[in-house]
Amino acid sequence: MPLDALVELVNGWGVEPRRAGARSAVPPLGDLADRTGLPASVTAALTDPDLIQFADTIFEVFTSAGTASRVATISGLLTTVDLRPDLALTDGRVRRTWWVDARDALLAAALLALRRQLCDEDPGRLGVCVDDGCADIYIDHSPAGRRRFCSITCQNRARAASFRRRRRSAS
Ligand SMILES: [Zn+2]
Repeated sequence: MPLDALVELVNGWGVEPRRAGARSAVPPLGDLADRTGLPASVTAALTDPDLIQFADTIFEVFTSAGTASRVATISGLLTTVDLRPDLALTDGRVRRTWWVDARDALLAAALLALRRQLCDEDPGRLGVCVDDGCADIYIDHSPAGRRRFCSITCQNRARAASFRRRRRSAS
């Protein structure tokens, strides 16, 4: 699963991102197969309650403080899914695949994507927005790796609020 799809699902359905951002409704389901890369037979069976549970599970990975805790959370979640490595011959090439029970396919795809991110990239680049009115998650792709906000909108809002606070304390 692409990580931007994972971020979109957690922010769209997660209880805490929706509470903090005052969004009571969940987004339309849309074409989940397209976004996640999962088979349509799997995504067609997904309901809003499934996605809320999924989002809250993955949100925990992002709120786990520090790499050790994140590794432990992902590792623990991997023990809950029925998943095994596999291989297949496709178009004359042997390719890496994996078998998973259809019920676990969404969570397994997300955990494998996070495993890749933590193993192959900087493991510190998972974040939760620090703005007071937001708990959206993000993956920090900035060169310096010091991102603290989910979006420019939140960054600007926090900047404006801190500017107002400074002005009040100066007068
Ligand atoms: Zn934000």
